[in-house]
Amino acid sequence: MQTNFTPAQLSDPHVAESESILRKCVHCGFCTATCPTYVTLGNELDSPRGRIYLIKDMLENGRPADEEVVTHIDRCLSCLACMTTCPSGVDYMHLVDHARIHIENTYKRPLKDRLVRAALAAVLPHPQRFRLALRAARLGRPFAGLMKRMPLLKTFGVMLDLAPRLLAPPSNAAQPGTRAADAEKRGRVAILTGCAQPVLRPEINEATIRLLTRLGVEVVVPEGEGCCGALVHHMGREEQALVAARRNVDVWIKAADEGGLDAIVITASGCGTTIKDYGHMLRLDPAYAEKAARVSALAKDITEYLASLDLSRQEARNVTVAYHSACSMQHGQKITTAPKLLLKNAGFTVRDPAEGHLCCGSAGTYNILQPEISATLKARKVKNIEATKADIIATGNIGCITQIATGTQMPILHTVELLDWAYGGERPTAISPSP
Ligand code: SF4
Ligand code: SF4
Repeated sequence: MQTNFTPAQLSDPHVAESESILRKCVHCGFCTATCPTYVTLGNELDSPRGRIYLIKDMLENGRPADEEVVTHIDRCLSCLACMTTCPSGVDYMHLVDHARIHIENTYKRPLKDRLVRAALAAVLPHPQRFRLALRAARLGRPFAGLMKRMPLLKTFGVMLDLAPRLLAPPSNAAQPGTRAADAEKRGRVAILTGCAQPVLRPEINEATIRLLTRLGVEVVVPEGEGCCGALVHHMGREEQALVAARRNVDVWIKAADEGGLDAIVITASGCGTTIKDYGHMLRLDPAYAEKAARVSALAKDITEYLASLDLSRQEARNVTVAYHSACSMQHGQKITTAPKLLLKNAGFTVRDPAEGHLCCGSAGTYNILQPEISATLKARKVKNIEATKADIIATGNIGCITQIATGTQMPILHTVELLDWAYGGERPTAISPSP
């Protein structure tokens, strides 16, 4: 694609990067076929190619974002299916990241939207605040239907619907400290405890720690780590995201320098995509660029790390699993086979739902901010998953677990919970007593 940025514009490294991304796009439109919003809405401006044109026009003309740009960029899930499809290697992820920062800096959203976004950014990345909010949601749930019919309160009604009915007590897995290997030691990793996941499903990190220590891996929960910054990053709140990234980089570099780390293990693929991008996010910060790149190189999804441990083959068990590959897993991190191979090796029968490339509509805060498109995608995803006739669903991202669980009666677990069970752990309570 031809571009017309001035030398003055290109002296801004963010603009220079976006220009080089834009120049790679050859307008072929292959990406439209796999874009969930284009497939759902049928509007070119809700396709990757349409958004690329909108971003080019906005940046090239040095214009503040307007309502049209904001509408179509807000509808983008950042699922990155377009990047998997694109034959020209267009780095849509960093282009849309730049567009979102530009929107945040130049566009004044309506008051209601600003309040909702400020509330999400203030609550979700902080487990204690999130837990309190979920407790309050239990009281508000009877009013969810009414709120969803009131334009000013609709988003809060959607949040009440998504809030889990039962809340697990705080888990020891989130407490800082070292969990010693239970077998001959063969590795040492740090684990990201995360923000929303330990509140919504503490069982995931509990299963991860049990499994790793049983396999001979020492697990460190470093003091001071927190939210990876993905939630605010996707809202264009770059400074807030960079504060989170720098804090985690400091914590993990300290842990690596003190005791050595083979990996930073992540059990939410949405977080993994962002942490693997820390090196890029902090590339212009001389104090952090090198350390952040080191952290990104150490970051591993739990299934990537387990695949490196050469686990023993287990006897077949009579349980069929529909594997839902989160967008951040398959498109963001390009991890496509490891989770399924691990499950098969552990004795499960694995089925792939149709249209596996399409997002379930969770996408961070998307299911709160774009509830209609999100609900359409969820219904499509659940229909495809249920058509597999599997006993249970496995996936590697808490956002997908929360989203899909509100659309089906099928039990849904994190892949690592099934692996923990297969390698000596208890049967997960979510699938007791059957299958
Ligand atoms: S990230 Fe997903 S929703 Fe956004 S343009 Fe690409 S394919 Fe479409
Ligand atoms: S597939 Fe790639 S090159 Fe083709 S229009 Fe989409 S982003 Fe541009």
